[in-house]
Amino acid sequence: MARRVEIDPQTTLEQHAEYVHLAPAVAELRSESRPFVQAMRGRTIWMVNSTAQGGGVSEMLPGLIAHLRELGIRAEWVVIETEEEAFFQLTKRIHNMIHGAGSAGLTMEDRRLLERVNRANAESLRDEIRRDDVVIVHDPQPMPIAGMLSVPDVTAVWRCHIGLDSGNEATADAWRFLQPYAAAYDHGVFSAPEYVPSFFEGKSSIIYPALDPLTAKNRPMHVQSVVAVLTRASLLHAPGPSAEPPLEPARRIQPDGSWQIALRPDDLGLLTRPIITQVSRWDRLKGFLPLMRGFAELKQRLREERADDDAVHERLMLARLVLAGPDPESIADDPEGTEVLEQLREAYLGCDADVRRDIAILALPMRNPTVNALIVNALQRVSTIVVQNSLREGFGLTIAEAMWKGVPVLSNSKACGPRQQVRDGVDGRLIADPEDAEEIGTALREMLRAERLDALGRSAQQRVHAHFLIYSQLRHWVHLLGTLTGAVRAA
Ligand code: UDP
Repeated sequence: MARRVEIDPQTTLEQHAEYVHLAPAVAELRSESRPFVQAMRGRTIWMVNSTAQGGGVSEMLPGLIAHLRELGIRAEWVVIETEEEAFFQLTKRIHNMIHGAGSAGLTMEDRRLLERVNRANAESLRDEIRRDDVVIVHDPQPMPIAGMLSVPDVTAVWRCHIGLDSGNEATADAWRFLQPYAAAYDHGVFSAPEYVPSFFEGKSSIIYPALDPLTAKNRPMHVQSVVAVLTRASLLHAPGPSAEPPLEPARRIQPDGSWQIALRPDDLGLLTRPIITQVSRWDRLKGFLPLMRGFAELKQRLREERADDDAVHERLMLARLVLAGPDPESIADDPEGTEVLEQLREAYLGCDADVRRDIAILALPMRNPTVNALIVNALQRVSTIVVQNSLREGFGLTIAEAMWKGVPVLSNSKACGPRQQVRDGVDGRLIADPEDAEEIGTALREMLRAERLDALGRSAQQRVHAHFLIYSQLRHWVHLLGTLTGAVRAA
């Protein structure tokens, strides 16, 4: 049943304020929040979602909650739970449909399943939520819960992290299916104006996702820490003596298809080769497979053609592709993961031996979230280019994460999330078709020429500083919560 998740605050606003480049934003946040915070005293904000680990939402919630608490607002995190496997298959299907993938045809039986699981979770929550509290429900999985709580005077907000800026039959069917649950909500929050469904028009706001620059995932890392983390996760041979104990190793698919520690069959070359990285959940819409095809084609072409510039050719020949994601067994609400990974493994085994040597498919250890985050941080930092080849992408936190580290990003101009973050030719590159192997290969090739990589990376970092850090996100939330509850007016 609904389970309370303890928050272990990774960073405090006080720590943020110690950094000169972050201090003004923290000061502004504190002063703007004050009247709202005072007026909201006595209420609790309940964040409700469907998983405590894996994906962008569970990445953002602990920080959001911890910082709201620091500002003086009571906030709690609750995850809905069920033993019914079919529930996660259904909600995954709805997720894909909102992204325009899959076919229409949700049934009454699907509705009964969604409601049964939500009702059971609502019952276990009912005694905890009190009059005048605020419930913020994230994404479709727990959407029906707001209408099932039966607690008077609760303000309900639906925070939808996904969306598509164009519609098809599947999208329309998914929204039709969810529409009845919208009535229980006072307000909806979306990541882009294009994502707001008609039944939330007039009662919605846009809040950009954002990253916390001091968490394990994003905090500054000295070159020695990068090396230490990669070494400890078996992603690098130790270049010298170190007192740091080894961590649970990252694993890598081998030429025979088995999983072994990532240092087999050879060192990945993370510190010496141009590295192209994508880190994502194993989800078809993340576009791992076409990215691998694009990279493989590029390598094939390079082998066949004569070099007009030896240094550039050599650099391209040395480049490696790293495709990394979580241990597939570790994510409860992602039943497709194993299947996507299996397809990727088969496609990898079908590549020429030469090409295979330059592709590393990695499963990152997930048991300790901080360790996982540090590995992702280090991997992003040693990358020459980070790719987010998503066919659809609501926002794409991995993009902001790489940009914040000064790494230029290659992504898809048709996906609304990447388009909001990356300006083509300014902070990275946007391609028109993430399934077009040739276009991917050509874009990678142009970027790897390295002429403007540094400039792209600098401007990427600047852009995240200006738009996608937690301070503006928190300001929006506090303002919205204060206004919705009428607390500010009453005060
Ligand atoms: N992520 C991670 N470890 C992994 C794979 C992904 O920590 O092995 C993180 C990634 O760094 C990012 C989040 O999961 O913070 C994914 O968020 P995004 O918005 O890119 O995609 P979503 O998974 O929400 O669709």
